[in-house]
Amino acid sequence: VFQLSLPLNFLGTVYRELRQSLLDMEVLFNLRSNNKPIEDRPGAKSLALRGGEIKFDHVAFAYHPDRPIFRDVSFTIPAGKKVAIVGPSGSGKSTIFRLLFRFYEPDKGRILIDDQDILEIQGDSLRRAIGVVPQDTPLFHNDVMHNIRYGRLSATDEEVVEAAKKANVHQTIERMAQKYHTQVGERGLMISGGEKQRLAVARVLLKDPPILFFDEATSALDSQTEMELMRNINSTLLDKKRTSVFIAHRLRTIATADLIIVLKDGYVVEQGTHEELMRTGGLYCSMWHTQANDPTETAPIAKPEDDDD
Ligand code: ATP
Repeated sequence: VFQLSLPLNFLGTVYRELRQSLLDMEVLFNLRSNNKPIEDRPGAKSLALRGGEIKFDHVAFAYHPDRPIFRDVSFTIPAGKKVAIVGPSGSGKSTIFRLLFRFYEPDKGRILIDDQDILEIQGDSLRRAIGVVPQDTPLFHNDVMHNIRYGRLSATDEEVVEAAKKANVHQTIERMAQKYHTQVGERGLMISGGEKQRLAVARVLLKDPPILFFDEATSALDSQTEMELMRNINSTLLDKKRTSVFIAHRLRTIATADLIIVLKDGYVVEQGTHEELMRTGGLYCSMWHTQANDPTETAPIAKPEDDDD
């Protein structure tokens, strides 16, 4: 019995973790769509990770042939660096994720991680290498323990608590009625945006991926919470060995990035550090000044958007 149950158990874990990595991406990027990730090619190998360098090599892509999103996009996100991708709404920032996670295939060009074409490796090994901290963390209707463990289903209770401590959410959890067994999610306990994000950080700490993506897309955090979160992320997730990519809307959160890549009209129009781009006085510089003069960007509480006005 022992001999039989051990491998079955192990396989069960592996299976769950594979399924989970897919679920991750679907939940995190609202990809509950009809879109299935591209299947592995025959003989595809597991991704051999070195530092986690990401390279877009003359990538062209369109969701619809008559509306190209990328015409010719090349950039390198160096291993272990903190890189931000910015650009006007609709310039394709989130599309970079979707291509990288192989939900779509480039029409031209290649995407490489540590010099391996992502179309030629196993999709699961690709997804295992990448962690995501979304702005709006999905919580499952389950207890806090499970919600953090979702980062790595094989993690022990002790490891979950350890991650929660590092992510600065342990004390909040200890104050809850049932502590780690408190139900959250849909009908469960309502928790603040900042607490949700700290749960997401704890989750990612458990996953411990060499490549990390931060998506600011639906940001609704007030400035105070956002600054705290960034400090938290800086001290827990942004160690030297991780490649970190920020899809940024609020430029002030990414001004310290090692590299900022600016996308517009299907091309990379500028890249450099904040200081370099400000000196150039191009698109980034004008976006920076626009945001600096926008009261909603500096107000302590983010206002809900109202498009009808
Ligand atoms: P934002 O800053 O507004 O979040 P973005 O730069 O992240 O935008 P993307 O989400 O990458 O932009 O989208 C680029 C363009 O492609 C947009 O015009 C969008 O409407 C379009 N688009 C995105 N997803 C799809 C899809 N699945 N099918 C067709 N068009 C899409």
